[in-house]
Amino acid sequence: MSTAGHFIRCLAAVAWEAGKPLVMEEVEVAPPQKHEVRIKVHFTSLCHTDVCFWEAKGQTPLFPRILGHEAGGVVESVGEGVTDLQPGDHVLPIFTGECGNCRHCHSEESNMCDLLRINTERGGMIHDGESRFSTNGKPIHHFLGTSTFSEYTVVHSGQVAKINPDAPLDKVCIVSCGLSTGLGATLNVAKLKRGQSVAIFGLGAVGLAAAEGARISGAARIIGVDLNPRRFEDAKKFGVTEFVNPREHDKPVQQVIIEMTDGGVDRSVECTGSVQAMIQAFECVHEGWGVAVLVGVPRQDDAFRTHPMNFLNERTLKGSFFGNYKPKTDIPGVVEKYMNKELDLEKFITHTVPFSEINKAFDYMSKGECIRCIIDMGA
Ligand code: NAD
Ligand code: ZN
Repeated sequence: MSTAGHFIRCLAAVAWEAGKPLVMEEVEVAPPQKHEVRIKVHFTSLCHTDVCFWEAKGQTPLFPRILGHEAGGVVESVGEGVTDLQPGDHVLPIFTGECGNCRHCHSEESNMCDLLRINTERGGMIHDGESRFSTNGKPIHHFLGTSTFSEYTVVHSGQVAKINPDAPLDKVCIVSCGLSTGLGATLNVAKLKRGQSVAIFGLGAVGLAAAEGARISGAARIIGVDLNPRRFEDAKKFGVTEFVNPREHDKPVQQVIIEMTDGGVDRSVECTGSVQAMIQAFECVHEGWGVAVLVGVPRQDDAFRTHPMNFLNERTLKGSFFGNYKPKTDIPGVVEKYMNKELDLEKFITHTVPFSEINKAFDYMSKGECIRCIIDMGA
């Protein structure tokens, strides 16, 4: 019997309180409404943003909530007005969308859709503000419009990328957030050229994805900068050939890098969230042509301070959101890069757990033990 148009009962990992382990609950998932699709999630992975909103430190607490935003699944049914997706399509739900109709969506240069841009405070669907999840009649908040820590979820069709059905969902699920953010920062924004040098600040999942972009671009030198020397071992697998730990130098890091590279790196990509690292990343690029790209999310009261001469000397500073990828238009192409073996995803996946043990993924992430932990919804 088709489930379309009916409520589906399934398991979801519900965050009831900040910082408390998720609880497996039987939930009811309502049918998709106008411009929405219901997706059977096959694999999801844990990203720092989930942990931030679970801890809810410095964020508006919104509980109970179903977290999760990196995932791969299959469309179960579609709501009214959905024309580009149908049941059976293989998809990646994405935390930021593409409505196709706003000025941003019409601009070739932007991916910051007016309608579906990331909104961390929204707990319901755009169509009616309501939640599609409930347990014992009590609504549960959505997260980023994706809520993938559930066997079924409802997502706005503008936040769903249709991908090659041959792509293994247990691998390409990581393309829906951190991987694309770092990769796109290098490929689309820094536009690193073959033979150039790049400094990558922060060797977490996003920085390592930026390094993967540098490898694909044919970088001659990939210099990794991190305060945590434990990150260097992992980074070697990503083609990072030289390391700088700011704590091991008396001089400012920008000076160290300028000396290492005879005047500065051609490109830099900042993936830390530290405003000091952002300034260093900018000041270590070569005058005349150097480009620095900021990716990390700073603290609310941070201010970026540099001498204007740094700009006059023809250094460029840019920022990037989600690697400048348009989710529906561009993400299927990132999956194709994996399919044609240009992009390596396996090395990002360090752990896998069954859905029932999802809390282990939070432990691995909190202890800094994993790059990406895949949560297998079917195991
Ligand atoms: P992560 O915490 O795993 O990695 C950050 C790394 O930066 C750590 O290894 C840490 O030791 C290092 N670091 C911190 N301060 C540093 C400093 N001053 N100098 C050198 N290294 C330093 O985080 P992640 O998941 O890889 O994410 C990286 C950043 O990207 C975060 O700020 C995250 O919020 C941001 N992000 C941005 C976007 C976007 O679209 N712009 C999307 C996703 C994530
Ligand atoms: Zn739009």
